[in-house]
Amino acid sequence: MLLRDVSNLQVNPLTASNRFQPKRGEPLPFFHFIMRLSRYIKIYPYAEKPGHFLLYSTRQSSVALLNEDTLKAAQEGTLSPASRETLHRLGFLIPHGHDERREMLALFDRADHGRPFNAVLVLNLDCNLDCTYCFEGGMKGNRYMTRETADLFIDFAEKNYLAEGKSVELDFYGGEPLLSVDLIRYVSGRLKPLVENRGGEYTFNLVTNGTLLTGELARELAPLGLRRAKVTIDGPQEIHDAFRPFVSGAGSFDAIVRNVKAVCDVIGIQFTGNYTRENYQEFPRLLDHILAEGITPDKLAMVMFAPVTGTMAEYGLPEYREGCDSTEEPWLIEASLFLRQEILKRGFYTPKMRPSSCMVEFSDNIIVGFDGTIYKCPAFIGRKEFAVGDLHTGIRDYHDSHKMDLWKNDECLDCAYLPICFGGCRFLKLLRDGAIDGVDCRKDYLDAALESYILQDLKLRTTAEKP
Ligand code: SF4
Ligand code: SF4
Repeated sequence: MLLRDVSNLQVNPLTASNRFQPKRGEPLPFFHFIMRLSRYIKIYPYAEKPGHFLLYSTRQSSVALLNEDTLKAAQEGTLSPASRETLHRLGFLIPHGHDERREMLALFDRADHGRPFNAVLVLNLDCNLDCTYCFEGGMKGNRYMTRETADLFIDFAEKNYLAEGKSVELDFYGGEPLLSVDLIRYVSGRLKPLVENRGGEYTFNLVTNGTLLTGELARELAPLGLRRAKVTIDGPQEIHDAFRPFVSGAGSFDAIVRNVKAVCDVIGIQFTGNYTRENYQEFPRLLDHILAEGITPDKLAMVMFAPVTGTMAEYGLPEYREGCDSTEEPWLIEASLFLRQEILKRGFYTPKMRPSSCMVEFSDNIIVGFDGTIYKCPAFIGRKEFAVGDLHTGIRDYHDSHKMDLWKNDECLDCAYLPICFGGCRFLKLLRDGAIDGVDCRKDYLDAALESYILQDLKLRTTAEKP
């Protein structure tokens, strides 16, 4: 979502004694008009400063600390114009009569139309690792996207998405995408000039196990558009090597760390890992190891760990579930908060809770399987019942099958969590209930976790997101 991120901003407590007193005959400034609190905010008592409250705008990710009198004045509409202006700018106050629900609907449409064309291309289902929880299961094997399918994709993109000036961002995915590095060179070599000649920008990212991503390769691919690589390490060496050995059985940890070290000055590295209930407490040792190797916070675009569970192993793509998590299972909330704290404490950047939505909702987002089948969510790859078309016949109407607009109902539009939820994750709903027949409501999870996330950000965050 294209919203201004001001979550580091704190407002000094506003004084109740500074309330606006209009003089007789004086023209009324904008902020005199009656304002009320936005419906898209959360208010928490601030334990560290009794009598104070933390306000969090889910729409703008902004935070303000107000004393009790000021909060009351904000609720009653008796703040001074200057204070109203500040709280309005931060997304806490809105003019009386302003239709926030309608604004939310319009904002989503604007965000959808302003985005680049984004496609995840599954280049193969092959891998040089033999991960114990690999989602591909029975699908894994010697299956590669052919050059003919890649040509079909380029034609499809050109015909349907490359309007004047439209930028293109591809994510090359597998299996292991670098086993298809020639196809990456080919697709990028053809698409880059097509996009740039129309005034857009062409970039691509890799979702890779990191074992083949050498410094030499990164330097070769960067001019073709390579921006970022999402690399996975599943904990300290003995844990990672047990989960993610090479097909030969040898550990892959050293090779990945060596490569991350070699490429992190060339491209952005999103450093991810998958933990279990049994091992998440060991992950801080991985952070200390990479720091000792000289992979410092300034060298990584982001660090984030995600859980692997039994059901996800059957279906999901842990690497793709950044921002897609919503679970109220207590151990998962505990693990997520613990690991976030350890990441922030060491100065690494990790994503904030911020406005985001399921990729399915965005019209210019597609996932293309190695055989040219098109999906809307990476977690549905290989599940024909969730295919929405193919490169030959195009995309069919998926409004019903994917329950589009499921958040456009009174309960969600009135919910303070809407900007960071938008109806949750269709994939998790499917895992939990066997069907996408409604929202994946995140209320319980956000009630349990959001305040702690905000406090962690206020106290520990020292690194800004890299562009
Ligand atoms: S269904 Fe879930 S995993 Fe798939 S894009 Fe939407 S939020 Fe992400
Ligand atoms: S799904 Fe639940 S948490 Fe999300 S916006 Fe709707 S009511 Fe709120």
